[in-house]
Amino acid sequence: MAQKIHKGDTVVITKGRDRGKQGEVQRVYPKDGRLFVEGANMVKRSRKAQPGISQAGIITMEAPLSISNVKLVCPLCGAAARMGFTFLNDGKKVRLCKKCNQPIE
Ligand SMILES: [Zn+2]
Repeated sequence: MAQKIHKGDTVVITKGRDRGKQGEVQRVYPKDGRLFVEGANMVKRSRKAQPGISQAGIITMEAPLSISNVKLVCPLCGAAARMGFTFLNDGKKVRLCKKCNQPIE
């Protein structure tokens, strides 16, 4: 299955505590079906001091979200639209916003 969400995309979260929040995709793990979104799904973790890590104590970090719980926001029309795929003239496969019908590169 082709990957619909890429690093650097803006997504909106559709499920969970941060529902409705938008953020930029930081990392995608297609095999796990998970991704990290900037500022979303923040969790507090305690961390012990370790050599090389100066920051100990409670830290806030992003926890992964399920890819199925986010929707890509079209950079062209701003809608959290359904995505399809299309091919450009040079044969490159790109996503297609089903709302505005524009290819997203
Ligand atoms: Zn669009």
